[in-house]
Amino acid sequence: SSPLIQVKDLKKYFTVGNKKLKAVDGLNLDIYPGETVGLVGESGCGKSTAGRTIIRLYEPTSGEVLYNGKNIYGNNEREMSKLRREIQMVFQDPYASLNPRMTVEEIIGEPFAIHHALGGKKKKERIKELLRLVGLNTDHISRFPHEFSGGQRQRIGIARALALDPKFIVCDEPISALDVSIQAQVVNLLKELQRKMGLTYLFIAHDLSMVKYISDRILVMYLGKMVELADSEELYEDPLHPYTKALLSSVPIPDPELRRERIILKGDVPSPIDPPSGCVFRTRCPAAMDVCAKAVPEWQEVKPGHFTACHLYQ
Ligand code: SF4
Ligand code: MG
Repeated sequence: SSPLIQVKDLKKYFTVGNKKLKAVDGLNLDIYPGETVGLVGESGCGKSTAGRTIIRLYEPTSGEVLYNGKNIYGNNEREMSKLRREIQMVFQDPYASLNPRMTVEEIIGEPFAIHHALGGKKKKERIKELLRLVGLNTDHISRFPHEFSGGQRQRIGIARALALDPKFIVCDEPISALDVSIQAQVVNLLKELQRKMGLTYLFIAHDLSMVKYISDRILVMYLGKMVELADSEELYEDPLHPYTKALLSSVPIPDPELRRERIILKGDVPSPIDPPSGCVFRTRCPAAMDVCAKAVPEWQEVKPGHFTACHLYQ
């Protein structure tokens, strides 16, 4: 099948004083219908900016995003309105993203008002249906966000994102703010909804611990650049890029035989305003060589469907 989303050399730079902050610096990615692509990297790696630019919450500096073959930045108003229904976002912090003065009914009903979709009794029925779909009690329709737990609030956020029958959802760290015990429940809910409704996801996360269970493929980013892309299983079994290896080494693995040696990265992600020359990861890379300071490693397919940008493989 053809991709639902095609991201082509997408760049998003911000101006800070008289300098450029390259938050996303050349993203290329196809996402197929029904697929989940995990997007992983530490905070400050450009994941959220990438997600927001892909769904046009931000205008790109350059590059294109095609949705069903159509450029999402070049659409007229009618097409944009359709796009805004079919492309949704679930946010990281369900508390901050829900208006505390609105009831659940008003929160989930808001998209219908914005898009002049449903009203009256039909709307209320649909809101109840959405509550059931995300596993919430329909008796709680008049309650306010603070009356719910973190996991329940995220379910409300998901119900709102589902209101207009979307096709593509960017989930921006939807489980990072939740207790570990609740994370799996929300991931399972997202998987179940995907199956029922034929949804396509971009699932953003800052570590690799839960991503495997939801993603078909995983893309790892570092300082605005793509560093590795592979099928989930393949990425976990044979990570190529030193950054991916470090991220994976900190994932808790119950079986001691499979445990990896912990790789502790030195320091934090450098400022994207003044990134290192050559490979942007070289200041923290345990395998850095002379060439890494001089040349930008090229993105290449090292094994079928498994891509990375690192001088070790060139
Ligand atoms: Fe490390 Fe060099 Fe590979 Fe960059 S290109 S990840 S510095 S080995
Ligand atoms: Mg973020």
